[in-house]
Amino acid sequence: MDFLPLFHQVRNQTALIVGGGPVAARKAQLLLEAKARVHIVAPDLAPATQALVDKAMVSWTASVYEPALLLKADIVVAATDDRAVNHQVAADSRKARLPVNVVNDPDIGTFIFPAVIDRSPIVAAVSSSGAAPVLTRLMRGRIESIIPAGYGLLAELVGRYRKKVQQTLDSSTARRRFWERVLNGVVADRAMTGQGDEAARLLEETLDHFQQGDHSHGEVYLVGAGPGDPDLLTFKALRLMQQSDVVLYDRLVSEQVLALVRRDAELVYVGKRRSDHAVPQEGINELLIRYAREGKRVCRLKGGDPFIFGRGGEEIEQLADAGIQFQVVPGITAASGCAAYSGIPLTHRDYSQSVRFVTAHLKNNTSDLNWSELVAPGQTLVFYMGLVALPEITRQLCAHGCSADMPIALVEQGTTPQHRVFTATLDTISDLVAQHDIKAPTLIIVGEVVKLHLRLNWFKPAVEG
Ligand code: SAH
Repeated sequence: MDFLPLFHQVRNQTALIVGGGPVAARKAQLLLEAKARVHIVAPDLAPATQALVDKAMVSWTASVYEPALLLKADIVVAATDDRAVNHQVAADSRKARLPVNVVNDPDIGTFIFPAVIDRSPIVAAVSSSGAAPVLTRLMRGRIESIIPAGYGLLAELVGRYRKKVQQTLDSSTARRRFWERVLNGVVADRAMTGQGDEAARLLEETLDHFQQGDHSHGEVYLVGAGPGDPDLLTFKALRLMQQSDVVLYDRLVSEQVLALVRRDAELVYVGKRRSDHAVPQEGINELLIRYAREGKRVCRLKGGDPFIFGRGGEEIEQLADAGIQFQVVPGITAASGCAAYSGIPLTHRDYSQSVRFVTAHLKNNTSDLNWSELVAPGQTLVFYMGLVALPEITRQLCAHGCSADMPIALVEQGTTPQHRVFTATLDTISDLVAQHDIKAPTLIIVGEVVKLHLRLNWFKPAVEG
């Protein structure tokens, strides 16, 4: 390790920045965020630095550097574009035993600025010891994405309640379990979505339960797993998947997505309820309730979006009745995923002003659909669960006034490595599909927008009819 990471208290200290360019402005911003008093010395200023002076956020001496300026400084940054000046500033500062940073010359100074992820009071800092700043910024981006923006609020909440929890729960084991529950569960989630008051209320409720020795309050996360590509998961979905004790998933959840579930979580396949011995007689709803009552964090992972043809609503209705806490995480629905990966915009100013998501899997038969409404001009239709009903769909659309030339696409296993697109017209699609061995799941898109695939396809070209 070439540099020891330390967090430096600079509140109300004077930071002297030598140089008035954009780099000086960036360093000034960081120092200001840590509540330092910033003084800039430079003969003239770049617009970014000038703006700070204009807003009276920093003070400015319009002159070249002189060693006497160090007398009032507690910390120094040499940020001119003149190497000799920077070296002079560093040498003088070292002599005066002042911490000094030299921009672009990390070894000459005594400290360097890391890339900062600010979730105050939580702060993470990343450095490559000056070797690869671009890589450091990339890493910061990655860390930014895994630490939710509301982490600071959570840390603040924990700080506020630490004493009370200590006084309320005698045993250190109970306290540890309590904080684990709070930091992994709905309390943390509310704090991280900026709902500080609700988080505090839930924390107090959990504390009451723990005080009464009742630790058996699990919760359920109804999570949309997207159409297949694991990169299409939301941060929130991933976070909850990684803190669940049990995961109930079905056929549509891709293997790559499942691989991201917490390693020691119990995985329960509930895809084919009839034949799967892993699931006893009781339905999925009862299972969810049972696990939650055992105090577990239960993730109900569903393909696409749980509220689009996913029966997600039905599952949480029972949870609501049973008084079990739950949260719902939206996912990218198959229509969005398949359309995006096929270069078929679902709406387009020239072709389509509305889009309808339709289920082709009906309790009786597909002619239950209001076909005349579906064939409205300027409308894209997306049929879920439509492979079996494809001939019926094309027949009904034509019978209700749709042109037999209307473009149609069938997307097979959209967004996965097996993604295939078949494009044809209402007239010809059934023949085309019959010539190929098509595997579920498939999605059907009908409308003028399908034509755009030819120009906009970027993932895989279509099999054309
Ligand atoms: N809740 C899911 C839909 C469940 S219904 C969602 O929002 O996507 C199941 C139907 O979704 C399938 O029959 C198929 O029509 C569609 N589907 C789901 N994933 C798909 C994929 N990767 N490619 C194509 N169609 C998909």
